[in-house]
Amino acid sequence: MSETSETPCYIARCKCGCGGLIFASVQSQQMSKERGNDTAKEVSKLIRAGYSIERMTVGDVRAATWLCKKDRVHERLTPKEK
Ligand SMILES: [Zn+2]
Repeated sequence: MSETSETPCYIARCKCGCGGLIFASVQSQQMSKERGNDTAKEVSKLIRAGYSIERMTVGDVRAATWLCKKDRVHERLTPKEK
């Protein structure tokens, strides 16, 4: 594994505007080969579900708040609906 805190990730934030992360995936060419580019698929699914995708480093992802700050106990924010 050559993942460092500088490794870039794609992330998606909660739609309510709280800033919590609901998705993060390391952007890695190796991983794309092994996993058939799952990251691109996941990212395009999230975009279609109305999330805006941003990029940040692994270090920033680790330091970020995960899940909705307003409602983090009650709801799981997985975009399964079409
Ligand atoms: Zn939220």
